[in-house]
Amino acid sequence: MSNMKVVEKLIELLSAEQVNTNADDLYDAAADRYKKYAKARKVLDVPSPLAIVYPKSTEEISTILTFCNENGVNVIPRGGKTATEGGLENWKETTIVLDALHLNKIIKIDSYNSQATVQAGVALQDLEDELRKIGFTTGHSPQSKPVAKFGGLVATRSIGQFSTLYGGIEDMVVGLECVFPNGHISRIKNVSRRAGGPDIRHVAIGNEGTLCYITEVTVKIFKFFPDNNKFYGYLVKDVETGISVLREVMVNGYRPSVARTYSEEDAAQHFYHFYKNKCVLIFSAEGNKGIVEATCKGIQEAVEKFKDGIIEQVDSKLIEDWFNHLNWSQKDIDDEIEGMLENDSHAGYTTEISADWETIPKIYNNVMKRVREEYPRAHDLTMLGGHSSHSYINGTNMYFVYNYDIHCAPEDEMMVYHHPMQKIIVEETIKAGGSMCHHHGIGKFRSEWTQDEHGSAYYMLEQLKNVFDPKGIMNYGTIFPQEEGIKKYIK
Ligand SMILES: Cc1cc2nc3c(=O)[nH]c(=O)nc-3n(C[C@H](O)[C@H](O)[C@H](O)COP(=O)(O)OP(=O)(O)OC[C@H]3O[C@@H](n4cnc5c(N)ncnc54)[C@H](O)[C@@H]3O)c2cc1C
Repeated sequence: MSNMKVVEKLIELLSAEQVNTNADDLYDAAADRYKKYAKARKVLDVPSPLAIVYPKSTEEISTILTFCNENGVNVIPRGGKTATEGGLENWKETTIVLDALHLNKIIKIDSYNSQATVQAGVALQDLEDELRKIGFTTGHSPQSKPVAKFGGLVATRSIGQFSTLYGGIEDMVVGLECVFPNGHISRIKNVSRRAGGPDIRHVAIGNEGTLCYITEVTVKIFKFFPDNNKFYGYLVKDVETGISVLREVMVNGYRPSVARTYSEEDAAQHFYHFYKNKCVLIFSAEGNKGIVEATCKGIQEAVEKFKDGIIEQVDSKLIEDWFNHLNWSQKDIDDEIEGMLENDSHAGYTTEISADWETIPKIYNNVMKRVREEYPRAHDLTMLGGHSSHSYINGTNMYFVYNYDIHCAPEDEMMVYHHPMQKIIVEETIKAGGSMCHHHGIGKFRSEWTQDEHGSAYYMLEQLKNVFDPKGIMNYGTIFPQEEGIKKYIK
């Protein structure tokens, strides 16, 4: 079927107003934040999709997916557009973007059973605002909270700033509804727990639009006690000390809502007004009074145990203020791109990995060493550092952050600067037994290492693709490596 015929058919199946073919919108839909500099410079090297389609119901999604499946049309599901790893980038000539714009209803808030049900296109901030009115919270707070939507948040396996207490999205999802490429609609019911075979929620959670389209999600909700919140901040000698304190708190069973440690370089970006060229360690405790008191005690005991590495405690108000200004609105996201264009520089690129407590400091030091020794554009690097921001009883994450000035053609930026850095981080992490992606997903730009990440378990992942998307119409190139696309658009 010709591209023109595909668009005509989409209009026939839905309506003209639900099928957007505006050239600027299609160019915008061709890539996400991964290639934001090239995109803003209008030198994107990927094809634009044929149309952005806005279904109004699960049934309409089923109709569109069935049509695409039968006619070999690649489908990129889309929510809030905050993807960072190329999950929204298009590598196929015949592609449509399936946008959740009209799936924007909060279906039910059930405070007695502590759960809320929303359509995939509801922004997290909108549910959070409704919940706050009745003294509840989702507990989910990625920095993209004002913009990201539930379908995307579940599909990327996202995590929020208060994860140490509330968990990642996978700990919050109770049940969901999703649609497969053949049009089949599956509804996973809402129960507190069950042992009815493997946990099929995980076919949808983290699928990044490669197996199914998520249409509806039910998440847990939590009572919120903001008046009890407590904040702690410390300047510490080095990253290892910070990580040791985090570990001490976690292995003793405490669940602060925030537990983070920043390298000196990364601290300079966030805490320039008080960091005094030192690493920074921060905590917050929240919940009902008794829990907050116990958590504060646990934090103070851990800090005392490592007091030789603690330089000073900082005013808790500074930490609280910092948290209150951490989230990014759409305007912040747009302004960042303006800044890049003005300065020809890239600030705040990240690669987030995870490993056990013993391994994380080793990966951190190995990455720093290798970058110093072999990163080809070291002279253009203006910052390289990192922070641990999500901790567990058995380990933590490391969020490498790097900034650089761009001295190459805009279309080459990713290959010249980003790819060599990401490669070092991913290789060092996998070699040490960690995971190459803690929470941003694989997208297209880590797919060349998906098989290394999973090893012999890649068999299981691959079978999911074979069974649920046998014709390969869902988000070509994302998660599952496509050599042709990798060669053409990455290397
Ligand atoms: C400023 C900023 C801060 C961020 N902070 C965090 C953070 O703290 N924690 C974190 O985890 N992430 C963070 N991210 C990354 C991003 O916000 C998350 O990955 C988020 O979950 C993406 O949601 P979205 O609605 O924007 O999805 P999109 O960007 O629209 O899509 C993301 C991926 O999910 C797929 N997808 C979207 N909707 C569906 C659907 N309905 N069904 C199936 N697949 C779908 C897409 O195809 C794509 O592969 C941040 C990003 C930005 C820009």
